[in-house]
Amino acid sequence: MAQLPPDVEEDECLPEYRYLFCPDLLHDLLKGHFFSCFRDKVAFITGGGSGIGFRIAEIFMRHGCHTVIASRSLLRVSMAAKKLIAATGRQCLPLSMDVRAPPAIMAAVDQALKEFGKIDILINGAAGNFLCPASALSFNAFRTVVDIDTIGTFNVSRVLYEKFFRDHGGVIVNITATLNLRGQVLQVHAGSAKAAVDAMTRHLAVEWGPQNIRINSLAPGPISGTEGLRRLGGSPARVSTKALVSPLQRLGNKTEIAHSVLYLASPLASFVTGTMLVVDGGAWLTSPNDTKQLADFESSSAKL
Ligand code: NAP
Repeated sequence: MAQLPPDVEEDECLPEYRYLFCPDLLHDLLKGHFFSCFRDKVAFITGGGSGIGFRIAEIFMRHGCHTVIASRSLLRVSMAAKKLIAATGRQCLPLSMDVRAPPAIMAAVDQALKEFGKIDILINGAAGNFLCPASALSFNAFRTVVDIDTIGTFNVSRVLYEKFFRDHGGVIVNITATLNLRGQVLQVHAGSAKAAVDAMTRHLAVEWGPQNIRINSLAPGPISGTEGLRRLGGSPARVSTKALVSPLQRLGNKTEIAHSVLYLASPLASFVTGTMLVVDGGAWLTSPNDTKQLADFESSSAKL
């Protein structure tokens, strides 16, 4: 079996890293050699202070990129930025921003442009989720998830477009999910919100392609060491049973997701736009819909 790329459970940087792509994959085309394309690029990553977004920031920085990591909690992104800078030696600007608030996004993007003079890559990773049966989901709860995941993704993309990408081109990767591919119990809010983002990916790829903007979605499966899995996976026994019935018979890790996002954001994917890359070890093809989880949820809620 192929050796897995390393990962750590917590929001910490990897103690060691073995390059699979060339280390300067994110070298700036204008400043560097043609084939070393990521060094000095700048990536704006929403949700970059934790989980998958944190590892994306780290792997991008290990490939020569500077990053802006933005989420609501300034403390969270500031602590993350310190770790990322120490581990990679690249620059990382932490910013507090709610993706639901266009004025805050405009201010954050202005600050990032002031600091770095450009933004090459946008990763829309901010999201909120929880388990809830549709019948118990409040109107407000459904709206909140759509506000963060779907409208937040549009807000940030639109601001980046106006302020930089329209005139300079760019790359957008939207982090979505596989929930909506088959429909999943307890997830009508997140599945609907992420499905809309996948549709947005295709619409914007069509509209903004002529301005040299590539837009793709990346849909992770269940990923170890994440808030997503802690909140949604259920008990450890249930998580490992589910993982074992998937084609690769295991959970994915954050580094594996970050490598796939790196591919989509890099010049290796220069002719890839408007598509969705599923990175789930084939899980959605085989995972049974967990109606027992629905029954368990309903019986435990009834006891409250
Ligand atoms: P996570 O650590 O909770 O990441 C979510 C991030 O979004 C947090 O850093 C949070 O920071 C930020 N955020 C939430 N609401 C925000 C808002 N209104 N404005 C700005 N930032 C906001 O979870 P994760 O599990 O790593 O998930 C990362 C992404 O992968 C999400 O898009 C998720 O849907 C997707 N995904 C994850 C899995 C998985 O197994 N983990 C599977 C499929 C898809 P603040 O609280 O500081 O705002």
